[in-house]
Amino acid sequence: MRHLRPVTAVALSAALLTAPGIATLSPVYAASSATTVATANPDPAALKARIAALMPKGDTATKRALDRLISEPSSIDGTQYQCGPTEFAAWQKRSTANWTADDFTILDNLGAFDLPTYDALVDGSENDPAYALRADAQVMTKTMRKLEKFWDIKSDDIQLMAMHGDMLRDTARTSRMYQIAYELPKAQADELAAILAQYIAQPKFEYGNHPMFTLNAFAFTTYGEPIEGVGVVGDRIVMGDGILRAYREMGYGDVAPQAILAHEFGHHVQFELRMHDDHPSPEATRRTELHADASAAYFLSHPRGMSMQIKRVTQFLRVFYSIGDCGFSSDGHHGTPLQRERAGNWAYQLQESARPKGRILGSVEFARLFDAVLPRLVAPDARAA
Ligand SMILES: [Zn+2]
Repeated sequence: MRHLRPVTAVALSAALLTAPGIATLSPVYAASSATTVATANPDPAALKARIAALMPKGDTATKRALDRLISEPSSIDGTQYQCGPTEFAAWQKRSTANWTADDFTILDNLGAFDLPTYDALVDGSENDPAYALRADAQVMTKTMRKLEKFWDIKSDDIQLMAMHGDMLRDTARTSRMYQIAYELPKAQADELAAILAQYIAQPKFEYGNHPMFTLNAFAFTTYGEPIEGVGVVGDRIVMGDGILRAYREMGYGDVAPQAILAHEFGHHVQFELRMHDDHPSPEATRRTELHADASAAYFLSHPRGMSMQIKRVTQFLRVFYSIGDCGFSSDGHHGTPLQRERAGNWAYQLQESARPKGRILGSVEFARLFDAVLPRLVAPDARAA
């Protein structure tokens, strides 16, 4: 539910997806095996045809259920807000400069941008080495402990784990996700897993470790209710290797791991306070995203939190999740960069004016004050032409 999606990549590949002919199975290819097709220079048309033949035609019920956990609709009128190309968009463009249009289509059609997330959702566990934190592990573990003490919610059951793109080469794991999320029979799932493992084994994809495949951080709860086809998913925060690396490469490595984690933890505060209503809307999503930003800034700048400089925190918030920032009609709009910066500055002022100095507000009181100031944070800011 509380999430970040590689909107640019998905939007790009979705556009390419509509190319005609993909849904027809090439008769030449139909007789050959996955191993044959996925050799060094597979014919992209044949590959796309085979993938289309193997994958389900529409979203399955389980995939929809999983996607509901990680996305919400959005249709805020973007023309009212200042929003432009972002550092993040530039980074994404740079980092995929040698990917072809076929690469995006084939990988997207194979679900490569979603499989690590589904895998972490369905099978992830804090105690499983496959989901162990790698980069920034120490700072995130330390930040998590501080967050648990800082906010007055029940948090000892929240598991903190990572997702790694190298799972895309693990045919047992990807086949399992094709079977669960895409509801495919084992033979089909195995063939797709083999195609993916071979396709991803290229230097330009870093054999799965390219940040695009794990460009996400998520907070999950199912409130103890089972997900169709999956069962109960325990409370967790999943940190993608890719998102951490992207921000490190953009020069935010000193603040990104702590800030992203604090934002995701803010969503768990919301879960505990039941701040999400049953009828998600773009405005509701923006409210919870900005509340998560404000919670993060409050914790990060607070002397009993991380004591970070608020200027650095708000610099980060401006670029944070900026792939979704201007996606007013995309899934899960997070608020514009300016709104996010305002949310951060508001939380900082709140912290600075606390009496006695250093007092930590309870999560209910914090949320009440935030809701009172929200209309000011999201007031239209586009300058008249
Ligand atoms: Zn969020």
